[in-house]
Amino acid sequence: MTLIEYVLIGVAVLVVVGATWGFLGRRNTPSAIDSAPTTAQIPSTSDDVDLDVIDVDAPAAIETSVPELASPETSVGRLVRLRSRLARSNSAVGQGLLALLSRDHIDQSTWDEVEETLLASDLGVAPTQELIESLKKRVRVDGVSDPSSARTMLREELIALLDPTMNRDLVTHAEGRPSVILVVGVNGTGKTTTTGKLARSLVGDGRTVVLGAADTFRAAASQQLQTWGDRVGATVVTGPEAADPAAVAFDAVKEAVAQGADVVVIDTAGRLHTKSGLMDELGKVKRVVEKQSPVDEVLLVLDATTGQNGVRQAQVFAEVVDVTGIVLTKLDGTAKGGIIAAVQRDLGVPVKLVGLGEGPDDLAPFDVETFVDALLE
Ligand code: GDP
Repeated sequence: MTLIEYVLIGVAVLVVVGATWGFLGRRNTPSAIDSAPTTAQIPSTSDDVDLDVIDVDAPAAIETSVPELASPETSVGRLVRLRSRLARSNSAVGQGLLALLSRDHIDQSTWDEVEETLLASDLGVAPTQELIESLKKRVRVDGVSDPSSARTMLREELIALLDPTMNRDLVTHAEGRPSVILVVGVNGTGKTTTTGKLARSLVGDGRTVVLGAADTFRAAASQQLQTWGDRVGATVVTGPEAADPAAVAFDAVKEAVAQGADVVVIDTAGRLHTKSGLMDELGKVKRVVEKQSPVDEVLLVLDATTGQNGVRQAQVFAEVVDVTGIVLTKLDGTAKGGIIAAVQRDLGVPVKLVGLGEGPDDLAPFDVETFVDALLE
């Protein structure tokens, strides 16, 4: 063979070896497509995660270490958002009253119908009589010439009945310590749900919260509260089943102090077997908590659908603890909004919050004017 032939054979061998090497090399290197799912599972937006130390082979561990927290709504403007729920259930009362008062001629039978409508809304006998007297007086003095003046009159009288001067602010600021809120009420009224919703709302308003699961008699209550707390990053202090509720409440306040939290909200047990049992238990919870901190709010949860029965429950609780505010739940499912005025009158304590649904942000600060406007919508 000539020199040229040797050179040509050498070049050919090099080309074949190079091509084979390149082919095999591509097969052994993970392709971009192969590796895409692994890298896609790495959280890339969290500020807390140092991407340099992530082990790409263990993305599941990374995911569980970044808790997914909810961002609850602030409490401001919630009643306005939820007012359609009020209107749906309660506007029959408002509209009924408007229709009656807009009649050309208002006689005794009209007043009887007004009375019937008010009693059916669970306003109670005494407030109903008072409201009718005020309305009669205004009709006598001013006359009711058209539906719009009837509306103005009714709006003003309903607002006065619900007493807009009552202070409905929740105490969520205390000097140099967490403010302490006890949530009390009969089981089934929505007490634990309200405690959870309240924690969300406080977190939405920028407060730090510790929860105390002192309803140790209802097995599911602790777990239920734990779930609410987990969603918003609030520590939940629980005890073993059937633990002393006062001990759990005590520990919750201690934890809130240790964390420097703004608010501690304590769910209590609500068995109403015997009045004296309840009195002993709740009284003890309050006394034990007060060894560490004053109690700023005692919120009584009442189920609006229970009507006048709720007013009687409120009386029992008010004898046991100083109730500072009422939470009326399930107002979305009843036309018995009159209970708001009834219970306020009876206890001299304002309705501070209303529950308007089962959704996590369906708890709103109560506002008289928004409520009355929803009734008359
Ligand atoms: P507890 O025994 O008093 O702690 O009662 P729960 O908190 O377990 O609530 C009892 C039921 O009432 C649950 O199904 C809640 O979802 C429901 N509930 C609570 N508040 C409201 C509300 O404002 N509206 C409606 N529609 N349901 C509510």
